[in-house]
Amino acid sequence: MRPAILFPLFAEIRTLSGVGPKLEKLIAKVAGPRLADLVFDLPVGVVDRSYRPKLAAAEAGRIATVEVTVLEHKPNRVKAQPYKVLVSDETSLMELVFFRAHADYLSGLLPVGAKRVLSGKIERFKDRLQMAHPDYVVAPDEAARFPLHEPVYGLTEGLTPRPMAKAVRNALDKVPPMPEWQDAAFLKQRAWADFNAALETAHNPVHDSDLEPTKPARQRLAYDELLANQLALRLIRAHMRETKGRPIAGTGQLKARAIAALPFVLTDPQLQALAEIEQDMASDKRMLRLLQGDVGSGKTIVALLAMLRCVEAGMQAALMAPTELLVRQHLASLEPYAAAAGVRLACLTGREKGAGRTETLARLAAGEIDILVGTHALFSEDVTFNDLGLAVVDEQHRFGVHQRMQLQSKGRPADVLVMTATPIPRTLALTAYGDMEVSRITGRPPGRGAVETRVMKADRMDELIAHLRLALDAGARAYWVCPLVEESEKIDLAAAEDRAVMLRQALGLKVGLMHGKMKAADRDGAMTAFKAGATQLLVATTVIEVGVDVPEATIMVVEHAERFGLAQLHQLRGRVGRGSGKSSCILLWHEPLGETAKARLKTMRETDDGFVIAEEDLRLRGPGEMLGKRQSGLEEFRLADPVAHSDLLAIAHDDANLVLTRDPDLKSPRGQALRVLLYLFGRDEAVRYLRTG
Ligand code: ADP
Ligand code: MG
Repeated sequence: MRPAILFPLFAEIRTLSGVGPKLEKLIAKVAGPRLADLVFDLPVGVVDRSYRPKLAAAEAGRIATVEVTVLEHKPNRVKAQPYKVLVSDETSLMELVFFRAHADYLSGLLPVGAKRVLSGKIERFKDRLQMAHPDYVVAPDEAARFPLHEPVYGLTEGLTPRPMAKAVRNALDKVPPMPEWQDAAFLKQRAWADFNAALETAHNPVHDSDLEPTKPARQRLAYDELLANQLALRLIRAHMRETKGRPIAGTGQLKARAIAALPFVLTDPQLQALAEIEQDMASDKRMLRLLQGDVGSGKTIVALLAMLRCVEAGMQAALMAPTELLVRQHLASLEPYAAAAGVRLACLTGREKGAGRTETLARLAAGEIDILVGTHALFSEDVTFNDLGLAVVDEQHRFGVHQRMQLQSKGRPADVLVMTATPIPRTLALTAYGDMEVSRITGRPPGRGAVETRVMKADRMDELIAHLRLALDAGARAYWVCPLVEESEKIDLAAAEDRAVMLRQALGLKVGLMHGKMKAADRDGAMTAFKAGATQLLVATTVIEVGVDVPEATIMVVEHAERFGLAQLHQLRGRVGRGSGKSSCILLWHEPLGETAKARLKTMRETDDGFVIAEEDLRLRGPGEMLGKRQSGLEEFRLADPVAHSDLLAIAHDDANLVLTRDPDLKSPRGQALRVLLYLFGRDEAVRYLRTG
């Protein structure tokens, strides 16, 4: 149960004074629904009002605080025009500009002849100073009423700075004094303040430099969050390990049959990974292993061989993929080997319904299915395995720790193998996977053609289409990807549709279209036609990003490549170069091309190494820019930045180990405080694995 001390922080933001339903919605959108979310929403900027120039010397574009005398009001005659007020100090005149102003209100605020202190942004127009809508207008003896430094918070459309800042301030005032959950000696060594003080400091920046992640207050808070993350992962893992696994030792018969049916030889890295997996499976500990490998590096076949070992031992295996499309594809690629090995394969997704589904479930429960491939439908309440020995989770970056746990809890403890094509640098892997064992498949299988990457401005599209026509006439198959930006899904969809029509006309060919809004059956239809070569060109939104495997496709065109992240571009490029032929990837960019986008495209042209790309991706995001869950599958942090704070992450990792070795149930005084920390960061799940105390 959440400790009482945290109750105020878990109250909803509507309980704050001045926050009504409308404001609540807006704030919830940027920060989150609870007070804790507001408190963890650190400023992104600071307004410094300490600049107090004489008017003549005031720099345009800066926020300034000036003392002036009101000279004259110039009311607007037409509504569309602004109401102006002329003011001056000893050195110069300045015009105050108000749109949609009420004359009465302004006469009261700025009476002619009165002295006023104003704070706001000063602009210069044709030698004339202007301030539009001053942030503060007060009498000189009240000048202390406004803050010299104001935190600036991230906003959304409809949300203005003041109510947001006020809500955060009010939330901060409700933070109770927290117990100290960090080690006293460590705090002293780092010269870090306590949690409450650090929170106050972080929310009250004075200079821009106070926003940097290396500032002590920000570091302290980041460390709190990272430690909560590392403790939680450790607890979850300890729990998994507590329930003993079963040794899964196969006879090698099925595996031998499948290998005999392979049209290729397994590479050394594949064999190495398989050996590591088999060793884990054979032990009586539960396997929790991550199989990392670039797109197309051949992870799936390794997973199949591991699943066959499980079947040899008389148990069942499950393979879970994030999309329907991927499930179908896995099914198609596994079928021949399953047949060769004499193994019963079945499929379960949201699309299986009615009698078919009932039958599959019955066969599964009766042990008449050896390997079940499916989407998260595998999690449904009514899915019962006869004896699940191994669960393989593909393309992990679409699933969270939570879902991994769910599969775990089905029936008897199964070994877990997670496959990911996201080449996560080691330090970052810690935040998402904790101490999972890692196998890596490096390099690409032999016999793969090279992929040439070209970066091209979109105004050369005619040229590109001419080349494309030649290639397609010669029998090539190509993808053409149009970006999909969530906020304007409809527009992008229309763009993809238009592009398909345009290309159909320009090329005089059948052009397929595939996008996320299509019915699953239509999408499959488009994919099947492309696979079979009935359509040679497939226009798609990024639904093809993950895992699509058509070895005959050799051309990938990405439109608006500047809008994609590096990881995404890398995934997309991985869709070609899967066969032996030479492939090309054309990245089309449109104006405006920012510096970061430019650097991304350069990286794409220069390297094909997923790990290099991942490191570069992190570097380009830069510290401060959080790694979103959507892009990377990594944990989302509020206060920590796994890149900027990677040194702290490593320390938190060791700290968590040490703490739980000494005090596995968090019963010591520090342990009790750490429980509060875990709840504070929403790691309730992890606390449940502790014995009560
Ligand atoms: P991943 O899942 O890592 O993206 P896949 O397992 O889908 O990669 O493999 C991509 C393609 O490479 C598949 O068509 C597969 O049959 C083929 N492949 C896998 N291993 C080898 C190998 N050792 N030699 C040649 N081709 C291979
Ligand atoms: Mg794959």
